[in-house]
Amino acid sequence: MSKFVYLFKEGNASMKNLLGGKGANLAEMTSLGLPVPRGFTVTTEACIQYYKDGQKISEEIENQINAALAATEEIVGKKFGDPANPFLVSVRSGARASMPGMMDTILNLGLNDATVEGLAKLTNNERFAYDSYRRFIQMFSDVVMEVEKKKFDAILESVKEHNKAEKDTDLTAENLKEVVRLYKELFLAEKGFGFPQEPREQLLEAIKAVFRSWDNPRAIVYRRENDIPASWGTAVNIQAMVFGNMGDDCGTGVAFTRNPSTGEKKLYGEFLMNAQGEDVVAGIRTPYSISQLHETQPEVYEEFTKICDILEHHYKDMQDMEFTIEHNKLFMLQTRNGKRTAPAALKIACDLMDEGMLSHEEALLKIEPRTLDTLLHNNFDPAALSNAKAVAQGLAASPGAASGRVYFSAEDAAEAAARGEKVILARLETSPEDIEGMISSQGILTARGGMTSHAAVVARGMGKCCVAGCSQVKIDDDKKIIKADSGAVFHEGDWMSLDGSTGKVYEGALATIPPVLSEEFHRIMNLADEFRTLKVRTNADSPRDAKVALSFGAEGIGLCRTEHMFFDEARIPAVREMILSKTEENRRKALAKLLPMQRGDFEGIYRAMGELPVTIRFLDPPLHEFLPQEDSDIEDLAKTMGITIEDLKATVDSLHEFNPMMGHRGCRLGVTYPEIMEMQTRAVIEAAINVFKETGKTVIPEIMIPLVCEVKEFEFIKNIVDTTAKQVMEEKQTKIEYLVGTMIEIPRACLTADEIAKKAEFFSFGTNDLSQMTFGFSRDDATKFLGEYYSKKIFESDPFARLDQIGVGKLMKLAVELGQKTRPNIKLGICGEHGGDPSSVEFCHKIGLNYVSCSPYRVPIARLAAAQSAIKNK
Ligand code: PEP
Ligand code: MG
Repeated sequence: MSKFVYLFKEGNASMKNLLGGKGANLAEMTSLGLPVPRGFTVTTEACIQYYKDGQKISEEIENQINAALAATEEIVGKKFGDPANPFLVSVRSGARASMPGMMDTILNLGLNDATVEGLAKLTNNERFAYDSYRRFIQMFSDVVMEVEKKKFDAILESVKEHNKAEKDTDLTAENLKEVVRLYKELFLAEKGFGFPQEPREQLLEAIKAVFRSWDNPRAIVYRRENDIPASWGTAVNIQAMVFGNMGDDCGTGVAFTRNPSTGEKKLYGEFLMNAQGEDVVAGIRTPYSISQLHETQPEVYEEFTKICDILEHHYKDMQDMEFTIEHNKLFMLQTRNGKRTAPAALKIACDLMDEGMLSHEEALLKIEPRTLDTLLHNNFDPAALSNAKAVAQGLAASPGAASGRVYFSAEDAAEAAARGEKVILARLETSPEDIEGMISSQGILTARGGMTSHAAVVARGMGKCCVAGCSQVKIDDDKKIIKADSGAVFHEGDWMSLDGSTGKVYEGALATIPPVLSEEFHRIMNLADEFRTLKVRTNADSPRDAKVALSFGAEGIGLCRTEHMFFDEARIPAVREMILSKTEENRRKALAKLLPMQRGDFEGIYRAMGELPVTIRFLDPPLHEFLPQEDSDIEDLAKTMGITIEDLKATVDSLHEFNPMMGHRGCRLGVTYPEIMEMQTRAVIEAAINVFKETGKTVIPEIMIPLVCEVKEFEFIKNIVDTTAKQVMEEKQTKIEYLVGTMIEIPRACLTADEIAKKAEFFSFGTNDLSQMTFGFSRDDATKFLGEYYSKKIFESDPFARLDQIGVGKLMKLAVELGQKTRPNIKLGICGEHGGDPSSVEFCHKIGLNYVSCSPYRVPIARLAAAQSAIKNK
């Protein structure tokens, strides 16, 4: 028989998976001899079983709950439902990781019309008994029975008003009886049956409500954001009540052993006398700072600070605790590792190392890599944010905070920025043509597109705030209006604020605060570098991005997307000319115009990178992306090319593809137009020779061929590269080394990686396309339906943000094994967006890649994630 219920005295901190964080810590505190009210935990396995049994608590589990309840009654000497000596409990959820969004707490469970009288007599405090009962009815109705809390609040307010009571504590016993009567009436009216009087029924219903809350929409969203699998389930803790609302020598509070915003080593928290838990957070009464407890309850304060010290040393981490004082006696209701801001996380990790509490490895593992993002970007001032209400929610595509006036086209955005305005660019989705507008804007909002959409990728590269795939807004760029489902409307020039770290959209301009990189940041980064074995490169297309990435510790460029260089206003005409030329001769003429520009780009990047490796990816996107759409552009181009507008339009039409992402792109362009590959090779090699001559630094360019699915395709292009490189070196009479490798981004490339590795000198996994093609989901359109996949529990996370280790990962592993079979020392990397996602980085470490490459602002995240992977997988 499985054990589904544990008394606190039967558990310990190592049983987190089974007892949840709260339960395991209550058990641990009990065994440390700290003052913890007795109780028991219904395990996470019971939650899983509840779902397996069709959302029912089985007889076996119910029997175990009853047995644990009886054992606890015995210890505390009270009985559930006994009016003469009632046993009351709190019911609280507790998953392995603490999870906002789930049901939190029900207090005073076990009260009914009879036990409330018993409690009044026993404590000789009728006011307290009815105060507890009204709280219980409200909490139970709200979280278990789904009767809205605000309806109860309205009743309480009206009774207060009627009796001229300013605070809750001014209400008399009689007033509270009236509140209880009205609450029960409301319950009956809402539910059609009376408030449940049987304590065991109350308890089972409360436990079921906790289990249900594991799967409510907020919890599902939180799990997705934080890598928490649905299969974990939540535990439920049932604990004897102690009362903070029994009089002025009672109270309740929350405290952190260190400041969770700054990390400062100082007790931080608040408390209220004559109150129960929710009063402290509800903001009805203003709580006192924890230091004032010293004056009100000096002995309790002293005991509490001692306990804080014990717990911090025991858990070797900053603790977040809840306590209650009942008639001057302190009880601990919870302890857990406290949530903290990124600056606080860094400071606390460093301080705990210095205080000798943590080893270097342990300190590194304490910091959540993803939170480092917030350190590198502007963020909204927390005070401004707390008063603002989001009007729409999209994908948190690129972090940071931005406020500006809304413009609907890249040109308008760029013009407004040139006038000195702060700008938000709002587009249905962005395309490479929008690049100027994106550069000019503070932030980017798109209604369509996922985490690897153009807007998301480019914004991340620039370190610019972006909310993508925001389907809660309709963007009409003809009428220049945005209508949000929430009712908010934005016209051109209206102020809007975007939070790229949460995906939220706000009206107006919210104040921002700039990033400051602390000493601790650098210390932790350097420490991470000592432990990691994975190298960290960056995806950068310009010297500017390369420099930013270098300042964050990048060790090379893992992906330079050459097409991004073609969208520059000065270059696009030559690019278009090249694409639309009907003869090789004309194409070569246009390419000759592009050569010096491209060579100049590479020189800039080499100069920035010194002797670090630079991977240059040859032209990849379908050509139609470069073509003019506006009539005026078509006219201009026709004139330059000396052809008619009709002729040009016909060529543009002929380039139209039904599935451009699976169309004429990547190395396929090189197969049809070898001269493009020739020009790009020439630019790469000439630039390397020029920079070598200029600086004496040797660059070893890594030429990367995209979208290869067949070794012969690769061989064909490699031949062009080798022939051209040889020619350039002869012309320049200088020899340099270079590598030719491929992206692995098509399932067939994974399956035939042994063949490809015979010719390719390195592999770089392009997991954006590899995910797209393995799932068969368009990377730009999948957000439209992925929401349904999450809510219907088909998927737990976005496969374009977090690597699908089961499917796509299996292909990668196979490609690594096959590649190493024919080329044992093959260099292996990843340059898809997953290269900056911590769980994906760990996977890359495990399968033996040499490096990950990510956008510049994610380099610190990848460095820390790589160190953590090395420590965890030693
Ligand atoms: C990829 O497909 O993962 C990749 C890095 O290339 P791109 O995003 O440019 O298609
Ligand atoms: Mg790709």
